[in-house]
Amino acid sequence: MTIALAERLQHTIRQDVQSMHAYAIQDSRGLIKLDAMENPFTLPPELQQELGQRLGRLAINRYPGPGHAQLMERLVAFAELPAGCKLTIGNGSDELIDILSVACNRPGATLLAPLPGFVMYEMSARLRGLAFVGVPLSADFALDEDAMLAAIAQHRPALTYIAYPNNPSANLFDDAVIDRLVAAVGAQQGLVVFDEAYQPFASRTRMASLAQHEHEHVLVLRTLSKFGLAGVRLGYLCGAAALIDEIDKVRPPYNVSVLNAEAALFALDHADEYARQAALLRQERERLQAALRALPGVRPFPSEANMILVRVPDSARAFAGMKARGVLVKHVAALHPLLGNCLRLTVGTPEENTAMFNALKASL
Ligand SMILES: *Cc1c(COP(=O)(O)O)cnc(C)c1O
Repeated sequence: MTIALAERLQHTIRQDVQSMHAYAIQDSRGLIKLDAMENPFTLPPELQQELGQRLGRLAINRYPGPGHAQLMERLVAFAELPAGCKLTIGNGSDELIDILSVACNRPGATLLAPLPGFVMYEMSARLRGLAFVGVPLSADFALDEDAMLAAIAQHRPALTYIAYPNNPSANLFDDAVIDRLVAAVGAQQGLVVFDEAYQPFASRTRMASLAQHEHEHVLVLRTLSKFGLAGVRLGYLCGAAALIDEIDKVRPPYNVSVLNAEAALFALDHADEYARQAALLRQERERLQAALRALPGVRPFPSEANMILVRVPDSARAFAGMKARGVLVKHVAALHPLLGNCLRLTVGTPEENTAMFNALKASL
């Protein structure tokens, strides 16, 4: 870079952006990739062919349009949206998180979320100019009800995010606590977003609660990423029709490509295959949990997702040892003080899980 360009960047790029680090994606070449909660299964050849033919027939010379209406109808049925609710789609749920920040960015607006949690809430708030308030979870990753209620009363957040299940802790929160938080946010005119990215692996969902009048300020955010289409980029946001209509005004009109939409429709046509995969991953999760519990000094936390948060005696040593043995997981210890000596393991195929377990055992 020339000195002139360096100077130009200093004068044009936002100060806070200059001091940021780009979202780090780990280099996984040659490793068993269990760091990002991806579905490990690829398409069998006959389905690859079917998808190829469907994509080949699309009018890619046209802007997205009619196909999206069909996708939305199919998602409404698939997600069992209550009557009176509506959904909108995003280029991954990351885009919907950002759209929500834009839509709610009135002067002084605040976004609140428990920590440790999904990093995109804070990132989107900061980039869009909302204040961010993080409320620590308890040591076993439960919601701290008193702290949450106090923060809601003090900051009156426009947006309160609750990942359900949470990332990276993988647990579902207590529904009685959640109901009281929803009421508290409702009383001060805010919105609550339940981020259900891990819904295919969870035993409960907040979707049905959208039908209740007292929950008309609640949104449910979903994605097909953990379901099995992380490469496709498709998220959807569900809530009261009047609320979704407002948020939709901010959405770029052609944000989801015809290729993404068709691939999502294809996956919904094969929803039974994806359901089978999710069931297998849940079964593998339980097998891994039992094996991890039997390792001395290792503490796996309860999981309702396709990942397991695990505390080990020395996470830096375990992470490096696993990588040297060909297995890439996520070292989360530095993300938050509550995550000391923690690794986040993605649940993969039975063979990958066995390799991961053996690598961990040998790296303690
Ligand atoms: C992985 C994840 C997402 C997914 O984001 P996409 O942009 O849809 O891939 C959203 N929320 C949480 C909590 C996640 O862990």
